[in-house]
Amino acid sequence: MTRDVVIVGGGIAGLSAAWRLRHRDVLLLEAGDRLGGRMRSDPCGDYWLNYGAHLFPAPGTLVDRITHELGLETVPVTGGMMGLAVDGTILDGGRVESYPFRLPLSVRERVAFAKAGVKVQLAVRRYHAAPNRYEFENDRTFADFLGPLPPKVHEIFACAAHRATGELDELAAGAGIGLFALVWAGKGSLIARNLRGGTGMLPAAIGRELGERARVDSRVDAVREDGDVLVVSVGGEEIRARQVIMAANAPYAAPLVAAVAEQAADALSRLTYGAFLSVAIETNETTAMPYDGVYAVATPGRVFDMFTNQAHALRVGPRRPGGSLMLFAGAQRAAALMRESDAVIAERFLADLHAMYPQTRGAIANATVRRWELGNVYASPGRGALQPALEGALGAHENLHLAGDYFAELGTMEAAAQTGLAAAERVESRIREAITHV
Ligand SMILES: Cc1cc2nc3c(=O)[nH]c(=O)nc-3n(C[C@H](O)[C@H](O)[C@H](O)COP(=O)(O)OP(=O)(O)OC[C@H]3O[C@@H](n4cnc5c(N)ncnc54)[C@H](O)[C@@H]3O)c2cc1C
Repeated sequence: MTRDVVIVGGGIAGLSAAWRLRHRDVLLLEAGDRLGGRMRSDPCGDYWLNYGAHLFPAPGTLVDRITHELGLETVPVTGGMMGLAVDGTILDGGRVESYPFRLPLSVRERVAFAKAGVKVQLAVRRYHAAPNRYEFENDRTFADFLGPLPPKVHEIFACAAHRATGELDELAAGAGIGLFALVWAGKGSLIARNLRGGTGMLPAAIGRELGERARVDSRVDAVREDGDVLVVSVGGEEIRARQVIMAANAPYAAPLVAAVAEQAADALSRLTYGAFLSVAIETNETTAMPYDGVYAVATPGRVFDMFTNQAHALRVGPRRPGGSLMLFAGAQRAAALMRESDAVIAERFLADLHAMYPQTRGAIANATVRRWELGNVYASPGRGALQPALEGALGAHENLHLAGDYFAELGTMEAAAQTGLAAAERVESRIREAITHV
């Protein structure tokens, strides 16, 4: 038996491809014990605990459309998303342009911070107008673009870069500028909303619809050609497919596609990923908290880079007891810290949380650590040159298609889903062509 299409990887890239092709003979194979990849959450009483991606894109996007097709609801994040905490000062409102003047900085630091901020703002305008995002500011690092900064200001920008899982001297300037474009894009942005019930509801709902056509605990070990068909090996079983969509993370996808598309394998192996370390916290306070109206605060100088209030969507009407927070660290320090035990990581994150918001002392019910070795993908200098090898139908019979967030200069759910849809559209037109010829 030869299937129409096999999809490797059950993150949102693979799932959006499977959703588009659900009327076909499709089989999705996921290595892990659940679908969703970096989209993961658990219900927790009135709330939910979020461990990975949390901000959904605005109405009109593909992810938003799929979410609605499955009867799920996203809600806008209304609280501050651009908070910044430096030493004891937490700024969670007002214009970002005013931050250099409101933070505990010396005159020299204020001037350097304001100048770098203006430089990034001007570059964000160029980014939006750029005809080719892969080539935009892709020949130098974000550190080179920013120039020398006083240590405290450097720490603030490094904290922002950690959201992309890179250090300032690892990210391409274009990726660093793109990160600010994403964060400053406001309500129409790719990171503007929360899924009621938690991010994991979306992959779970797609999985329910796919039923037996989505298999977990199924790690693909190899893909090879056999005439004009591809043979996918999974745990000793060989599955024949007319088309394959490879939606595994680039470092895993590289060896799998090497026998069919050598140049693509080489390009995949050169893509750069960084780590994320997240701690999801269930709180049990009975009164209001100072962060009830806040969504996210960047925290330079702390063990985590971002504080997020995952209960934000439920802070309408009477204040319910309890809450849900997610703290996360990115890039090299996160990669080093994730080697410690869960207990050590949780203790260090909680100590800094209490220092930031003393009201959280005695209000912690649970803290769950989640390690993401491949937390996110980011463009480093030279990334643009890799793009042609990744695009379109690959292999001698043009039956291999790549999908994943690594097509973007910075990974997001929407970027990943769009690549899954593009691959699925190519597969769909080939299946139609084949039917017409018969
Ligand atoms: C802490 C954190 C916060 C984030 N915040 C946001 C956010 O707020 N908004 C946003 O838009 N994005 C966010 N992201 C990024 C977002 O999660 C990703 O860009 C997106 O989910 C990637 O989807 P993907 O399908 O490309 O990859 P993945 O979700 O990584 O899926 C790839 C899948 O392939 C599977 N796989 C690998 N090898 C094999 C194999 N050999 N056989 C079978 N299966 C295999 C993996 O197990 C995995 O499930 C965040 C990520 C993290 C970790």
